[in-house]
Amino acid sequence: SCANDDLKALIRTIPDFPKPGIQFRDVTTLLLDATGFAAAIDRLAESLPVKPDLVAGIEARGFVVGAALAQRLGTGLLLVRKHGKLPGETIAEEYALEYGTDRLAIHVDACAPGADILIADDLIATGGTALATVRLLRRTGARVTGAAFLVDLPDLGGADRLRAEELRVHSLMA
Ligand code: 5GP
Repeated sequence: SCANDDLKALIRTIPDFPKPGIQFRDVTTLLLDATGFAAAIDRLAESLPVKPDLVAGIEARGFVVGAALAQRLGTGLLLVRKHGKLPGETIAEEYALEYGTDRLAIHVDACAPGADILIADDLIATGGTALATVRLLRRTGARVTGAAFLVDLPDLGGADRLRAEELRVHSLMA
């Protein structure tokens, strides 16, 4: 983490958002910083042992990290969207929120069977969002081998849950 203290200084914590008691890690300030944004993407890219076939970015902040990473790696970008947004034939996967559920969707033909996919998001907490994405992509026959995040909140266990699913987890700071 020491090597990334410069990037950590660009992220701020907003208390009581979106509700009382939550300490929200706000990455918008990192994205506003040209040097910091570029360094974050470079360091994530350099931590990968192999180039994936595709990067899958999770709506919405995962689109930002995923798109930049895909361009840096020279891969395409697969959009993992909130259900109801994609125009073609989709498959969806439900995941639990604190109250109720939500659904993520992809186009059924978005990736070739056997494609090696890296998922991308701004932050992993409990891992519920990322794990739903893994299940969704694997239903197409894709191999999901890694996940990249700007921030990992390790106490919430998400990264460990991804490792239990045989993913390599890359993050820049806790
Ligand atoms: P999880 O599903 O791992 O519990 O939560 C991670 C998802 O919620 C990610 O899509 C992430 O964007 C969002 N999220 C949860 N907490 C935070 C936070 O403190 N900061 C940011 N930027 N995103 C968060």
